[in-house]
Amino acid sequence: MAKETLHREVVIIGSGPAGLTAAIYAARAELRPLVIHGPQPGGQLTITTEVENYPGFAQGIQGPELMVQFEEQAKRFGTEFLITFVNKVDLSGRPFTLWTDEGHEIKAETLIVASGASAKWLGIPNEAPAPDGLGGLGVSACATCDGFFFKGKPIVVVGGGDTAMEEATFLTRYASRVTLIHRRESLRASKIMQDKAFKNPKIDFMWNTDVREILGAPETGVTGVRLHDTQTGAESEFACEGVFIAIGHKPNTDVFKDWLDMDVVGYIKTAGVSMATNIPGVFACGDAQDSLYRQAVTAAGTGCMAAIDAERFLDSLPVVMSTGEEVTIEGEIVSADHESVTMPDGEVVSNIADGASGEGARSEQPEVVYARPSSELPS
Ligand code: NAP
Repeated sequence: MAKETLHREVVIIGSGPAGLTAAIYAARAELRPLVIHGPQPGGQLTITTEVENYPGFAQGIQGPELMVQFEEQAKRFGTEFLITFVNKVDLSGRPFTLWTDEGHEIKAETLIVASGASAKWLGIPNEAPAPDGLGGLGVSACATCDGFFFKGKPIVVVGGGDTAMEEATFLTRYASRVTLIHRRESLRASKIMQDKAFKNPKIDFMWNTDVREILGAPETGVTGVRLHDTQTGAESEFACEGVFIAIGHKPNTDVFKDWLDMDVVGYIKTAGVSMATNIPGVFACGDAQDSLYRQAVTAAGTGCMAAIDAERFLDSLPVVMSTGEEVTIEGEIVSADHESVTMPDGEVVSNIADGASGEGARSEQPEVVYARPSSELPS
């Protein structure tokens, strides 16, 4: 028996830049969204320090402070928040149902999944965010975010995939030298990315090597890494001033895997021209669906898009799906060529405006006539 049942027009799972931007837009559209915070309220930016690439903050801003601003802005327009973890969902029909660790049952007319992704970590001493470790004091998992702080410094990148190649190549803009440390003697990265890294004169490769510990102190930041040769068992120390962990990311999407189309890693597939998933009324944004850009500003952008998609859907307007078809909340399906509409009862009707038929007629008429509720369609 659920402790409490809530029913909302828009429920947003996740409170990073994507979820909170979706909340700001949905709240300003008077949809009174409910944001479910999840285990890391504020998302990945709450474990970073200085953010210098978020537009609007000329002098930079601390990641946690930026997320407080996002949350305050969302609250100002009437967003509700719930701190809990969604452990089960049923997306078989609207309203969608979510269950939480605290015993809530939540009904959602539309759902925005903004549950983010987590960088994978090695689990070694000093890797944790400060004050527990040297995270933010020389340890990072985002070259785009933090590379700028390593001008003229020697750094290491850990990993052998495309992310590691990309981060190492990017970091040569700033670092005096980049040493890429990989646990095997061949890379997993695609050939083109490997070749770019091999050709870069500022990148050295260290093979068959595990990083066992990050060395340094809060006063000095990172001073080196302790290494283990996987073939000889020898231990050594290597001096550096920055460590970038680039061993992959894990999107926080496990709870949706029986419902939403995903790639092999678990990133939710969205339509491309909208943030629609394979289920009408369920949208995804931010790092839960983006394996490529993974920036706060792109997450915020897709959060805005998801909220506008949800608003359109609730207003009975069509939303584009990955097939190119457009669906409405009533269940109408506009064909990808916009010529016909399949009604919920299976009847197919023309979507071409009166007088727009005949050779050459379409060019004189509006190109697209959207579906309307069946009661308003011409007989
Ligand atoms: P990935 O392909 O899974 O590679 C992860 C790398 O980290 C592997 O080399 C792996 O070593 C290593 N690793 C994993 N756990 C480790 C541990 N505990 N200790 C030491 N090393 C560890 O992840 P990714 O590089 O993030 O790429 C993810 C996906 O995004 C891929 O499909 C990739 O092609 C794509 N991507 C594309 C681009 C691009 O095209 N521009 C850029 C970035 C990512 P092993 O090789 O020994 O397993």
